[in-house]
Amino acid sequence: MSRYDDFYRQSIDAPEAFWAEEARRIDWHTSPTQILDASRPPFVRWFAGGTTNLCHNAIDRHLAARGDQPALIYVSTETGVERTWSFREMHAEVQCMAASLIELGVGRGDRVLIYMPMIPQATFAMLACARIGAIHCVVFGGFASGSLATRIEDAQPKVVVSADAGSRGGKVIAYKPLLDEAIRLSAFKPAAVLLADRGLAPMDLVDGRDHRMEALAARHAGAQVPCTWLESTEISYTIYTSGTTGKPKGVQRDTGGYAVALAASIPHIFAARPGQTFFCTSDIGWVVGHSYIVYGPLIGGMATLLYEGLPTQGIDGQPDGGIWWRLVEKYKVSVMFSAPTAVRVLKKQDPALLKQYDLSSLHALFLAGEPLDEPTARWISEGLGVPIVDNYWQTESGWPIITIANGVEKKPGKFGSPGLPMYGWRVKVVNESTGEELTQPGEKGVVVIEGPTPPGFMQTLWKDDARFVDTYWKSVPGPGVYSTFDWGIRDADGYFYILGRTDDVINVAGHRLGTREIEESISGHAGVAEVAVVGVADALKGQVAVAFVVPRNTAVAQGEGAMQLEGEIMLRVAGQLGALARPARVHFVGGLPKTRSGKLLRRAIQAVCERRDPGDLTTLDDPALLERIREHITG
Ligand code: AMP
Repeated sequence: MSRYDDFYRQSIDAPEAFWAEEARRIDWHTSPTQILDASRPPFVRWFAGGTTNLCHNAIDRHLAARGDQPALIYVSTETGVERTWSFREMHAEVQCMAASLIELGVGRGDRVLIYMPMIPQATFAMLACARIGAIHCVVFGGFASGSLATRIEDAQPKVVVSADAGSRGGKVIAYKPLLDEAIRLSAFKPAAVLLADRGLAPMDLVDGRDHRMEALAARHAGAQVPCTWLESTEISYTIYTSGTTGKPKGVQRDTGGYAVALAASIPHIFAARPGQTFFCTSDIGWVVGHSYIVYGPLIGGMATLLYEGLPTQGIDGQPDGGIWWRLVEKYKVSVMFSAPTAVRVLKKQDPALLKQYDLSSLHALFLAGEPLDEPTARWISEGLGVPIVDNYWQTESGWPIITIANGVEKKPGKFGSPGLPMYGWRVKVVNESTGEELTQPGEKGVVVIEGPTPPGFMQTLWKDDARFVDTYWKSVPGPGVYSTFDWGIRDADGYFYILGRTDDVINVAGHRLGTREIEESISGHAGVAEVAVVGVADALKGQVAVAFVVPRNTAVAQGEGAMQLEGEIMLRVAGQLGALARPARVHFVGGLPKTRSGKLLRRAIQAVCERRDPGDLTTLDDPALLERIREHITG
């Protein structure tokens, strides 16, 4: 048996012994009394009886051994700021932020919504919440007022932490007006807003509600705020993600299980050690950012590099396609983590840029968030000369489900496959209509996970256990298994291949979006009778959203009227959801293909857009409508 097989088997056959050992990687204030409580499936409680704190494990416990080592390296090619904080300096910043939050009335179990650009204060705010037992809900800064409002309403935060503005490619995006509009739209009103002022955009402060972060920080400089010891099973954060309905899902995570899962992943998956540098190019608004910009590296005693900017712009704001490699050299980055889309952007740059820097510190480049195509993987692996490790996971999982555990055994990778199931994950491929396991290599089915799920996996959906059970655990027939909502196959060597979503979720440049959310936004336009949004394959972004709109006034579907309506739809989506969700194209059509029972056939539209066979169309009510869509696309 190989080392990996042995390690994996132990985690599956004796999960309690396995995770009891891994739990020693973190500090506990009181030790767990029960490692695994799976008495109420599909709910799982890890390390019950134990008390700990994420911030303590990320910062405080490193002070003695590495207080003066870098903890946070901040580089913004948007503002030209480059600065490093040691663990000791982080300790001070986080306590100061915690004291500010306490002044605003935040306590254990209260929600704090963080809507921020990639600035150090965002990480201080997350860690400050963890420190005092408040639940943070970080909302991606690229989302606009509508998306933000639904999240404020669901999370009911006591305080919102934000900033005057973000910046992308030198273009300032004022956050404060978006936030004000979101609070106006939301039925729930947060009591206070804490705002970092970067000097990028003017801010109109609302009296009695809005507070300047700098003013509070000045009052609390040097504050000492002890860590609140939380039950292992107490909530650390919620993070919203898209699903099949328009209503976003608040994925909820625990404290102890998450800390252990991340602490274990640093040596086992990333083969990294304390004192090294981790550079994850994601955004704190996504789960990858939570786990591998903020908590994972710090819990592992590593420095984390927080980067604001495009992958192709230098610290002076001038184009620089080698900026990331320049930073790898400068900060001796050991582990880099990015997304295939970013690599596809870099592919357009001069390949010589990959050879210009000393990349000897770099062990591996991890890529996640969307399928990694072979040409992209080959290009970057040849250019960098380090292993490229694809890894498959989800907001729900919190850490990789399928990858190569480099620190356990350097199993060979296979192009097109993220690899093998990670320890703790019972991954299977099942038939979508019978739920039966598909054991023949190459058989396509739904990728599911059998419980009990490992530490770090979501606890439930925020305030909605029923939705958690119904959505994830009842979608595949048979005894309850968790559906990943991804199609996949397993080959004869046990390697998995992920073949796209089974639901209406699309993946634009590694960002997960629900087509229903986009449809809801578009159908709110008075000129729109009906709409279908599908994800269509795109060479750069993986997928883009394409909208098919039936206008109320059919005469509008042509000429100038169409152009105007298209423009209004684009603006509406960008204004409500964010530029990310804006469709790449809007097609005006006379009708949408539906089944005789009235179900919209998004999958058939998608196939037609991608010039594929739309499959079985016997249930289609009016085949001419799909034909017309085909003519539209090809015409
Ligand atoms: P998110 O929750 O935003 O992380 O998105 C999770 C989804 O992204 C998964 O369900 C997959 O559809 C897709 N995904 C993530 N990583 C990979 C990967 N390495 N290969 C293929 N698809 C991936």
